[in-house]
Amino acid sequence: MTEYKLLIGGQLVDGDMTMDVINPATGEPFCTVPRASTAQADAAIAAAKAAVPGWSALPWADRQAKLIELADAIAARKDEIARALTMEQGKPLAEALGELAWTDGYLRHYATLELLERIIQDDETGYIAVKHRPLGVVVGIIAWNFPLLVACWKIGPAVLAGNAIVLKPAPTTPVCALILGEICRDVFPAGVVNIITDANDLGAHLTAHPDVAKVGFTGSTATGKRIAASGADTLKRVTLELGGNDPAIVLEDVDVRETAQAIFGNAFLNNGQVCLAIKRAYVHADIYDAMCGELARLAEAAVVDDGLQQGTQIGPIQNAMQFEKVKGFLESARAEGTVVAGGDVMERAGYFIRPTIVRDVTDGDRIVDEEQFGPILPLIKFDNVEDVIARANASEYGLGGSVWSKDVGRAAEIASRIESGQVWVNQHIAIGPHIPMAGFKNSGLGVEQSVEGLAEYTQTQVVNIKR
Ligand code: NAD
Repeated sequence: MTEYKLLIGGQLVDGDMTMDVINPATGEPFCTVPRASTAQADAAIAAAKAAVPGWSALPWADRQAKLIELADAIAARKDEIARALTMEQGKPLAEALGELAWTDGYLRHYATLELLERIIQDDETGYIAVKHRPLGVVVGIIAWNFPLLVACWKIGPAVLAGNAIVLKPAPTTPVCALILGEICRDVFPAGVVNIITDANDLGAHLTAHPDVAKVGFTGSTATGKRIAASGADTLKRVTLELGGNDPAIVLEDVDVRETAQAIFGNAFLNNGQVCLAIKRAYVHADIYDAMCGELARLAEAAVVDDGLQQGTQIGPIQNAMQFEKVKGFLESARAEGTVVAGGDVMERAGYFIRPTIVRDVTDGDRIVDEEQFGPILPLIKFDNVEDVIARANASEYGLGGSVWSKDVGRAAEIASRIESGQVWVNQHIAIGPHIPMAGFKNSGLGVEQSVEGLAEYTQTQVVNIKR
């Protein structure tokens, strides 16, 4: 059995405790991993603090080169990591390999980014320059839906900007992060990247620690608010990528078959456990029945199985707690609307729920108003565009939203009125390392990705010289 270790100060070390990792396809433990104590969390922060002066003094190009080295080293262990990702997270192997490909693309793109010094004035009276300085120690805390990709979303920009990082994965998906730790040990100088695990008990300690300058967080809105509060005393910088309840507005002129396929893919990717998944679809009355029928057909045809089985399209829900939560949403869906596909828990071991399509629901129903973060898509009928824009915007969230139509100009106009960090036309979850990613309202604070995201891992400094 593989032995996993924490990465603290350039050393691969045992945890002061251990914990089992459950394979969601069986509901049984498949490996045991180290679990860090509070003292080990402190040691990781101290190691990061000690690494900052040397690391931040390196030329920018040297740090860029390290990200390429990291991408190469991950690629060299691609198949092993993909398998571990499927076993701990549940996603089909093809999606796990997709997550590796995304990770590779993001790291290689970060390695091209620069934060150029901006000269505001340079004349006989003075010189003013705007610089970006590293912050120091960054803590990265992430959720369980993309354990490798999102870990690298934190590590990449944090270290490129000259910071050192302590990364903590979600308690139910520590394995890929620990493999990443082994890789980082051989790529980075000691202390630049530290990776520790917990059983949901170290987050508050890390995010309140006085030596931590910034927290990059991906997870739920409730935890994001706690992190903002716990960092208030020391005025930590925070970037919060939180929950969403993304609407898709489907106009009457679409090709139903083609659009249903795209909507299905963007609602059920990673079993619906995607912050930017379509979580409610508003469908024009003229095509409502046809769209419900087509989506139900796709849901019934989807192969739901262990992600390691060839041909699996949808795996299990990632963990027991989320499984219970989604079961609660299934009950709401049955009570509030008409379930036309799925709607049941599969009679087998593991956390399997069939992809579920529910129609005849509306705003005010729990399955429409709340973030289900699982394989249930509610379809809501509309016949008035002004009204549907207001309904799409009547949410505490504002992460993404999309409009679907053959008339791209009309769709773009409607999309521009959706209150969310990203709005799309005839696509959804269209993200990339060169594209800023942000959330309105309770969906987040700050920006990730692109130069804008990178700048959030720095502090602005003005050098102003009188001549
Ligand atoms: P969660 O907030 O419960 O946990 C996320 C992480 O925070 C875990 O590592 C957890 O151990 C840690 N944590 C828990 N309590 C903490 C505390 N008090 N202080 C600091 N850290 C703490 O979220 P989850 O249930 O694992 O993930 C699902 C949620 O994440 C969904 O709402 C989803 O929309 C959101 N999410 C958002 C994005 C995005 O980019 N916007 C991406 C993925 C998931």
